[in-house]
Amino acid sequence: MSSDAKPSNNFIRHLVSADLEAGKHGGRLQTRFPPEPNGYLHIGHAKSICLNFGLARDYGGQCNLRFDDTNPEKEDAEYEQAIQSDVEWLGFSWSNLCHASDYYQQLYDYAVELIRRGCAYVDSLSAEEIREYRGSLTEPGKPSPYRERSVEENLDLFERMREGEFADGEHVLRARIDMASGNMNMRDPTLYRIRRHTHYRTGDQWCIYPMYDYAHCLSDAIENVTHSLCTLEFEDHRPLYDWVLASLEIADPPKQTEFAPLNLEYTILSKRKLIQLVREKIVDGWDDPRMPTITGLRRRGFTPAAIREFCERIGVTKNDASIEMPVLENVIRDDLNTNALRRMAVLDPIKVVITNYPQDHSETLSLPNHPQNPEAGTRDVLFGGTVYIERDDFAEVPPPKFKRLVPGGEVRLRGSYVIRCDEVIKDDKGEITELRCSYDENTLGKNPEGRKVKGVIHWVNAETAVTAEVRIYEPLFKDPNPAAAEDFLDCIRENSKTVLTNCKVEPALAEAAPETNVQFERQGYFVADRRDHSPARPVFNRTITLRDSWGG
Ligand code: ATP
Ligand code: MG
Repeated sequence: MSSDAKPSNNFIRHLVSADLEAGKHGGRLQTRFPPEPNGYLHIGHAKSICLNFGLARDYGGQCNLRFDDTNPEKEDAEYEQAIQSDVEWLGFSWSNLCHASDYYQQLYDYAVELIRRGCAYVDSLSAEEIREYRGSLTEPGKPSPYRERSVEENLDLFERMREGEFADGEHVLRARIDMASGNMNMRDPTLYRIRRHTHYRTGDQWCIYPMYDYAHCLSDAIENVTHSLCTLEFEDHRPLYDWVLASLEIADPPKQTEFAPLNLEYTILSKRKLIQLVREKIVDGWDDPRMPTITGLRRRGFTPAAIREFCERIGVTKNDASIEMPVLENVIRDDLNTNALRRMAVLDPIKVVITNYPQDHSETLSLPNHPQNPEAGTRDVLFGGTVYIERDDFAEVPPPKFKRLVPGGEVRLRGSYVIRCDEVIKDDKGEITELRCSYDENTLGKNPEGRKVKGVIHWVNAETAVTAEVRIYEPLFKDPNPAAAEDFLDCIRENSKTVLTNCKVEPALAEAAPETNVQFERQGYFVADRRDHSPARPVFNRTITLRDSWGG
């Protein structure tokens, strides 16, 4: 893959390189990737990961992995673990592993300082009253009756909030900015709320928790972040980001820059929505191969290089556009076309008995692992008198231009002989159970004499075949933009997973290690399932078809 080539420039790279040249932030570059541990990472996060870690790598800087863990009711150590392993799997390593919760004491001290400076106050309105007082886009807000509390009273109340003297929701700490601001985020936003919920790291040590907008900018500052990169929806929060840092006179403050989030057609990129698919058992867990999660894509057979290459191809801009699914599929198709070894597997077998093949005989054929890449070598495949072929590679009544096997017709078994179909055996229901064929012994590696055989089909030797399960996946959503639907669950496609349990595969496939990517010749790219595959019970997931099937 070309992903390790020098990444193309984008506006953030231009900005960083200009800042470094100008000696801003002492010529340092510090970025961070700041997920909330409330679910598993998705392909949108990969964009942010490649951007943040990629900048640090390419400009001699550092990138932290920071858990923005300020909502104890949604967060969990399981998610934190999963996020760490996804980032590592994508090929990145962090300079420091950090948590907003590491800074709870510092954040509290900063809040006390804001109160001292007259920049924050304890409000005792109810949540509903606060909403009412906030006004709207067309009407200014009005000040809370508690806005003019004295510094002493605010310090006392805030300390007692922390001590647990009040019930959840009884008071909040608010920034004292501007209730008439045209930017709703600046109308005295909440900085702290009382919430009695055990935190997965700090336990019951705290009953007040900082809000995202307050914790984020200060966590950046504490980590000496220079460039704080986030998605466009935070553009309206930037004035607040800057206000908090300025009000505390933070030296050399980090700068927030926004870029367009990845939107991908036919899927949903939001942890909060993806978690519903898991909870409601619409998918088989976070790593279901239909999920747009990193772990789902991994189980589907995507490689880290392909995901990095995808992030490279989509680029980084301020334009909020939607990427079409083939863009994602083409990176893995290109990767696997180059790198996956070729194997033969029959998904829906019919038995072919070669009546003129010597009894109890077999021979070893040497087949290329990758026809375009001789360095991939060869493997030994046994050939004998009974093989399986794909049910739809035979037609009793062939449609026009059908080049495969028909009664009385000939076809080549790939890498092997030409066979002719002499007889079709059916059961009581008229279902074909066996084809009786004869082979031409002079056609191994040679064209037959005096006639042309156009069709070539794949096959698996019956004697050595291993029965495998193969899972075929279709897109989970039938609508290109499920996020825009009133309820995204209405856009779920029925039957997006098909499990084939009687597939016949060559022994090399059974022996493949879990997560091995292969091409099943003529069928597509598949991967040995990470969880379920074993030599005794091979299980493969279809990663992608050989060609784009989106009808483009
Ligand atoms: P949630 O659905 O829980 O809000 P989220 O997808 O917004 O989840 P966060 O944990 O808030 O995830 O995001 C971590 C980082 O990843 C943030 O810096 C965020 O801007 C970035 N990010 C999230 N979604 C995308 C996306 N679709 N494209 C690019 N970056 C993203
Ligand atoms: Mg978010």
